[in-house]
Amino acid sequence: MNKAFVREAEFDGRAYCPRCGTLGTAVNQATLDQQIQAGFRRQIGESAWFCSHPTCDIVYFDLLERTVATDQLRGPVYPKDPAAPVCACFGFTLDDIDADLGEAAPVRIRQLLDRSRTDEARCRLLAADGRCCVPEVQRLYMKGLAARKR
Ligand SMILES: [Zn+2]
Repeated sequence: MNKAFVREAEFDGRAYCPRCGTLGTAVNQATLDQQIQAGFRRQIGESAWFCSHPTCDIVYFDLLERTVATDQLRGPVYPKDPAAPVCACFGFTLDDIDADLGEAAPVRIRQLLDRSRTDEARCRLLAADGRCCVPEVQRLYMKGLAARKR
């Protein structure tokens, strides 16, 4: 069906960053409480979306276009700051992925996978997007592998 003929449906849960237009990742109150400095927490409501664009200053936004910027967080977060851990739970960084790419097998990533299945993983609180980092780590590793084969 031609999309032009589909009437605007009810809100489908998708929201786009008002600054850069990236599709947001829904985050909940626990994540927001943990990540945003107390003085800025009231700038946004109980639920919001995370903007994953690396160079966009907006970290969280909501449908009223209220926003929280990178300097209003308690600390630097990946991917806004590439030096921040990709996995905030275990401090796993891009350097760890690079180190694995230099070896025959991704030993560090396998360890991370094991740990991510334990109670030590607190992604909902510690990750800026409230999600487990494993899909992103895998994506970066595969991307690194492909780059090396060229
Ligand atoms: Zn953005």
